[in-house]
Amino acid sequence: MRKRKVVVLGATGSIGQSARKVAQDIPDRMEIVGMSAHSNAEMLREAGKDFPGAKLAISSGDGGGDRLIELATLPEADMVLIAIVGTGGLRPALAAIEAGKDIAVASKEILVMAGEAVMGAARKKGVNVLPVDSEHNAIFQCLDGRSKLGVRSSDDPSANSDLRTPISADVRRLILTASGGPFRCLPAEKLADVTVEQALKHPTWNMGAKITLDSATLFNKGLEMIEARWLFDVEMSRVEVIVHPQSIIHSMVEFRDSSVLAQLSVTDMCFPIQYAVTWPDRVPNRLPPIDFARLAKLEFEAPRTADFPALNLARHAGEIGGTLPAVLNAANEVAVAAFLARRCSFPAIWQTVERTMAGHQPVAHADLAAILAADQWARAKAAELLG
Ligand code: NDP
Ligand code: MG
Repeated sequence: MRKRKVVVLGATGSIGQSARKVAQDIPDRMEIVGMSAHSNAEMLREAGKDFPGAKLAISSGDGGGDRLIELATLPEADMVLIAIVGTGGLRPALAAIEAGKDIAVASKEILVMAGEAVMGAARKKGVNVLPVDSEHNAIFQCLDGRSKLGVRSSDDPSANSDLRTPISADVRRLILTASGGPFRCLPAEKLADVTVEQALKHPTWNMGAKITLDSATLFNKGLEMIEARWLFDVEMSRVEVIVHPQSIIHSMVEFRDSSVLAQLSVTDMCFPIQYAVTWPDRVPNRLPPIDFARLAKLEFEAPRTADFPALNLARHAGEIGGTLPAVLNAANEVAVAAFLARRCSFPAIWQTVERTMAGHQPVAHADLAAILAADQWARAKAAELLG
């Protein structure tokens, strides 16, 4: 039983707070040795009291990027949890990999933008990329159970990480579950009138503003499709989405014999964060089990792809690959910020993403420089389209 020494980038956010809870719940298995905040110095200082000795850094202002890299490569750390919203975690993630540290990734945006580069760097360096996003963590758990892969100890240096084993022919589909967001049942013609307040009310999860908004447009699930494609090295055509309003099944894997494995828990990000940290071990905690009798039912329905174009846009971006997913992601970030600032309508978010993607000439197997250039181009283009 080893204790993992973890740096948490974005320790003041929703995921960051859950990560601190996990560290306090299983102190024998998780020690936080570093934490960053961007603007909330007060909360970081408070959090620092719970983890004496942890290095603290503020990432805003002059030299903020360097301070993040310094934390991500901290000699005493063996894992870096990337919980920064948006793409700001990309460089620290690559630096952590380069320094030989496992990364636990909540920031799906960095895998959407540069999944090929991140996974390639991790493979080359022999470090693990552990999924924290609840759907991907669920799939990771379902795949771990396959007898073919067996359960290997991450302590054994001769063991290949399960994550680096390409999904074999045994797997037919990865099925991502989606809550459907607050507008699951809203008639299409009413989407134009959606307000910021309505969009920020998620039915099942309590999260930061960006991902809550992404859940309302279904871009969150779109980003997760691309995230799954890279994390599990599977073609986009094998990644599917099903709406499951209760958010109890966090995702499923269908095998070629038509058997399906699913992972279930109550909706609390402490579950996936803990498993990412303690993998491949299961460790007792104070999290509540599911009360099935109270839960009573689990429902499923097809996503409304015609009314919520995000899913098809993401599938297209994932199929084309190269720089196109980075363009989708960047345009979405700009459009979400505009909507939150009440500068555009709700449907303008996906309209802006669609038009930005349409204006882009994708570069295949793009290197980091090409990806960063596409990201910058898309941000400027989306801003121009939004006026
Ligand atoms: P929050 O908005 O709650 O927190 C964001 C964190 O990132 C804060 O610590 C914030 O610091 C920091 N931050 C913001 N901007 C920057 C920047 N430019 N550079 C460095 N740090 C920055 O977000 P969430 O915790 O909800 O989400 C974090 C990531 O995890 C996202 O990518 C999201 O998609 C993903 N995720 C979140 C889930 C959730 O349940 N919340 C579920 C699955 C994935 P400060 O507050 O000090 O300004
Ligand atoms: Mg998710």
